Amino acid sequence: MSETLLITGGAGFIGSNFSEMAVSRGYRVVILDALTYAGHLQNLDSIPADKCELIRGNITDAALVTKLLAQYAPVGLLNFAAESHVDRSISGPAAFIQTNIFGTFNLVSSAYDYWQKLDADRKSKFRYLQVSTDEVYGSLGATGKFSETTPMAPNSPYSASKASADFLTRAWHHTYGLPTLTTNCSNNYGPKQYPEKLIPHMIQCALSDKPLPVYGNGGNIRDWIHVKDHSKGILLAFEKGRPGDTYCFGGRAERNNLDVVNMICRLLDQMSPRVDGRSYSTSISFVTDRLGHDLRYAIDDTKAERELGFARDYEFEAGLADTVRWYLDNEKWVSSVLADAKEEKTT
Ligand code: NAD
Repeated sequence: MSETLLITGGAGFIGSNFSEMAVSRGYRVVILDALTYAGHLQNLDSIPADKCELIRGNITDAALVTKLLAQYAPVGLLNFAAESHVDRSISGPAAFIQTNIFGTFNLVSSAYDYWQKLDADRKSKFRYLQVSTDEVYGSLGATGKFSETTPMAPNSPYSASKASADFLTRAWHHTYGLPTLTTNCSNNYGPKQYPEKLIPHMIQCALSDKPLPVYGNGGNIRDWIHVKDHSKGILLAFEKGRPGDTYCFGGRAERNNLDVVNMICRLLDQMSPRVDGRSYSTSISFVTDRLGHDLRYAIDDTKAERELGFARDYEFEAGLADTVRWYLDNEKWVSSVLADAKEEKTT
């Protein structure tokens, strides 16, 4: 019989891509998701219904999480649920504190109560995995990379809330012995990313004939990893990682924002040329920089390569071309998730 994973935030971008992969590797997934503006049932359409159950609910609801753990007896609880957009954390930090900090506190506490009562065999197999970000490490200058030993120095309300969650996860291992894992990953791209993040936002603006808003001078650098490579890393950490440990994952693909936007424009010029022949890059418009904008992120993930056998399948240029193609082929998905979010605002 397949083992069950309880996956929080599984209707979002990374959680749904991960759930699809986990099911293809033989797991059954139970998803707990509040279906905020970023979570969508459509994201689970590709997963066979008999292998995936969605429960709409909040990770801050202790009674619900306790009930789900008892009912489904999962071999793991993997927390993807979060408020995840830095800009939203600047204009409205409260939801980030609630979900990312209180939510994680509730999950590690409930997981500990559940784990403690398991028999010895189940107890040795169970893992709590906290999905986190490289943004907890702050900002790099022109050189160097983040790794598992980099001190945390979060700069935005988003990264501060994620760092707090990482510390809670660490404390529940150190103090109570809960077998935890934490993964810190660089910027993800790929199918089903809500069109507020750089890559899908730019594709969406270009196709709707709007200006392409680039922060500052476009010089901020991110290390882009395909969501399927990240998902593969999380599964490896879950199955092979040492309890209590942290694993970093990156894409070995540092690019500045302006270069990424220009690449998207060139791909769209080829795949969906404008009728008047003008390049999409003529719509690039530089806008006032994000407050406290981190300059550069980059990850050294040699620990994951060495200890987990992690290797990337996607090279950035090809992965980006596939992603642009996916958004062109899935305009219906884009309009339906944007309509969902609008409905959430007005209800
Ligand atoms: P996302 O915003 O696409 O999805 C978040 C999901 O969590 C949504 O389905 C939403 O409905 C759900 N959710 C939010 N609040 C909830 C709550 N209180 N209770 C239950 N469900 C709730 O985010 P994502 O990009 O898929 O990121 C997933 C995780 O990976 C996050 O923890 C994020 O910090 C981390 N991460 C993201 C990136 C990236 O580039 N996107 C990089 C590294 C790490």
